Amino acid sequence: MSNKFAKFSASNKSIPINNIFCIGKNYLEHAKEMGGGAPSEPIIFLKPNSSIIFNGEKIILPKISNNVHHEVELVVLIGKDGKNISETNALDFVEGFGIGLDITMRDLQSDARKIGNPWAVSKGFDTSAPISDFVEKNLISAPNNLEFDLKINGTLRQKGNTSNMIFSVEKLISYLSNIFTLQVGDLIFTGTPEGVGKIIEGDKLVANLNNFTKLEVSVAE
Ligand code: MG
Repeated sequence: MSNKFAKFSASNKSIPINNIFCIGKNYLEHAKEMGGGAPSEPIIFLKPNSSIIFNGEKIILPKISNNVHHEVELVVLIGKDGKNISETNALDFVEGFGIGLDITMRDLQSDARKIGNPWAVSKGFDTSAPISDFVEKNLISAPNNLEFDLKINGTLRQKGNTSNMIFSVEKLISYLSNIFTLQVGDLIFTGTPEGVGKIIEGDKLVANLNNFTKLEVSVAE
């Protein structure tokens, strides 16, 4: 049974985390740095919910990788079950927003891409999905115009704005719900802007969602 809960900073509310959907290449400049262009449809992968960690916890670098990367992303928490949701109604299914890291074994992912293998190992290992506390959606009037960034050891490493997403929050919810039934407690990692790079033992990562919420984790030594 899952013992991972999405928590809200402003209240005692918490929701058990269900499925974790992630979007690849949702920012053009990141798609370019990965050696590609804008996808014509959202690229979807999943992480198991055992990959989640929270504020104050540690990322454990797997020994099978020599190149583990940070990817800072807006995370959407689903608050209502739904299928075939229209873009117009999509935000009705959102409970809140947070900031997260899609931690990636880039070397293993690159090998998997070359031979057409899936990304479950490179993207879904234990501690690969740190998430912040969530903010109620009614406090965030423009989810598609949110600045966010990631600092490592005090240095700015990634900075983005959700206005640069190729597929908006509403589009992603609509698209996903036409394939998968969205359920209470599902998370959507919405993709990362450019600037991804390596993390090493002892790094301190601080991700900020427009001062609404903050995630602080470190890399285990
Ligand atoms: Mg990502």
